[in-house]
Amino acid sequence: MRITVLFILTSLTIMASACKTAPEETIYPSYDDYPVYEGSDLGVRYTPETTTFRLWSPTAEEAKLRFYNQALGGEASRETNMEKAEQGTWTAQFEEDLNGVYYTFQVKANGQWLDETPGPYATAAGTNGKRGQVVDLKATNPEGWAATQRPPLAHPTDIIIYELHVRDLSTHPSSGIQNKGKFLGLAESGAKSPQGLATGLDHIKELGATHIHLLPSFDYLSVDETKLEDNKFNWGYDPHLYNVPEGSYSSNPADGAARIREFKQMVKTLHDNGLRVIMDVVYNHTGATENSVFNQTVPGYYYRHNEDGSFSNASACGNETASERAMVRKFIIESVKYWATEYQVDGFRFDLMGIHDIETMNQVSEALHQVDPTIFVYGEGWTAGDSPLPVEKRALKRHTSQLKDVAAFSDDIRDAIKGHVFTHDDPGFVSGKAGQEGRIRFGVVAATRHPQLNYDSIQIYDADGPWSPGPAQTITYFSCHDNHTLWDRLKLSRPDAPVDERVHMQKLAGAILLTSQGVSFLHAGVEMARTKQGVENSFESPDSINQINWERKAKYKEVFDYYQGLIALRKNHPAFRLRTAEMIQQHLQFLEPGEPNVVAFTLAGNANGDAWKDILVIYNANPEYKTVALPPGPWTIAVDGDHVTEQGLGTVYTDKLAVPGITAMVLFKND
Ligand code: CA
Repeated sequence: MRITVLFILTSLTIMASACKTAPEETIYPSYDDYPVYEGSDLGVRYTPETTTFRLWSPTAEEAKLRFYNQALGGEASRETNMEKAEQGTWTAQFEEDLNGVYYTFQVKANGQWLDETPGPYATAAGTNGKRGQVVDLKATNPEGWAATQRPPLAHPTDIIIYELHVRDLSTHPSSGIQNKGKFLGLAESGAKSPQGLATGLDHIKELGATHIHLLPSFDYLSVDETKLEDNKFNWGYDPHLYNVPEGSYSSNPADGAARIREFKQMVKTLHDNGLRVIMDVVYNHTGATENSVFNQTVPGYYYRHNEDGSFSNASACGNETASERAMVRKFIIESVKYWATEYQVDGFRFDLMGIHDIETMNQVSEALHQVDPTIFVYGEGWTAGDSPLPVEKRALKRHTSQLKDVAAFSDDIRDAIKGHVFTHDDPGFVSGKAGQEGRIRFGVVAATRHPQLNYDSIQIYDADGPWSPGPAQTITYFSCHDNHTLWDRLKLSRPDAPVDERVHMQKLAGAILLTSQGVSFLHAGVEMARTKQGVENSFESPDSINQINWERKAKYKEVFDYYQGLIALRKNHPAFRLRTAEMIQQHLQFLEPGEPNVVAFTLAGNANGDAWKDILVIYNANPEYKTVALPPGPWTIAVDGDHVTEQGLGTVYTDKLAVPGITAMVLFKND
């Protein structure tokens, strides 16, 4: 189904006066009729002997390739007309060593030459991603790269994610890190705060997280790479080149090889230190719309549109991509596979995953798990606006059971713990809001089906009941880069509470998170009561708002110690990391404590091979002591409001326990 016309035939007047051959424009009835390129060599393929360029642009009338000697400015050193090739592609091949050459593509569509771009498949680029660069990828491997290995991971529920922006770790003077704001800043060992406490990489190791989730680290638009001295900050949710590391996080944005080498060095060092690396990927929209690389290569094709032809906007960022379209789906799958293989990335967090279709997410999951079955995939199971994609096809939280080995964020436990995310003065369970027991229980079982929960009485967002088929598909969290930090939120919602009380709330929240089922997710710095000075949407706020102030590690040392202890407890005790909904149903039983704002449960029967026979967990969110009836003991206390001591803080021989206010307790018994 395609119609080929001579573009010049659209004007008989012109035809009458012009006798030369005109370039052909190919018109297709719909995007679904565009030819699909089945090969895997789009973009640049380099060897010292031959470099091949291939661009997919079925509607182009002509395509040009230009070479440049620099990343920005200057005239092209060479210009080549690309040859039309199979399945909508254009190619050019050079029998010479082009290592280091900058290049652009330019296509002519509807009689107009569009912008020069590096093409969507660029894997290396110069400053601001204006021009692609031919790079010998093998030469970018840091020393020892061939031997790099993903740290061991037995099951997704063993994962403890630490969500981090590259700049936030190192830009504060107290970080003691040399490579401030850079990928290499994550690869520095030995950095210390002025108080002599470990910062950066050593700190994350000390805390015990298993995975570092990096906010967007592909090449995005909002930070001008020609003005790095301005130290501009941005979260980076405005993608430009999906397969190129962000230039401002490298030592030299003009040098395409440096970006790649330094990203790899970061991954290698993290791997060597037992940490896996997750990328936050934003395939749901592009930073630019009309002038995006996609749109200047194949106008319209990569996007969904409204009935009037305008760009639809489920991302609330001006456009949304069309993952269900063959070459868009192929792009996303090949892109994540590229990061998983070339860079050894261990996981992918899909921004606004609900904009993508279920089938694409399942194909992404399958492709990645063929690369390595332990790669972890998760996403935001919602959109930021309406989409032309039918609701039933969207990869929404409520459709998690249709997703294979893809997890979704539980906004349910998030808001149960701290209050409604957009209602700033709304407290949650830990900060004194009544009636949250059901939602906390729902979070404890990772949004799975459990016989003791009455789902009709529990407020659940955008789903009718237990939306998760198992804990490996549930991200258990209460804060992330979006919105206020937990510490700021506790202050906003409980301005009356003294600091000491808010410290207890911060600790109780951590205890709930790390004793609940599902995949644990921590916003970087929560373990030292991180503040963004009350700024909620800090996406372009300066470093002074966003950066981690390492002085707080000493100031809130009790919070750090507590979170560290809870993480160790979780890692040492598989009962907190049950692998299936059936295991949760079998081993986890809620108690009826007979007091409001108290949730208590047992994990019985050496659950998941735990060394402890029975575990008892109690959360008391009331400001005062509550007395809870205990199952037959004696019980040994492992966690109270201040300490985590797996050897035991004492033994309870009575059948009742007075639990202090705003406190979690974990007890165990072995006979
Ligand atoms: Ca950039």
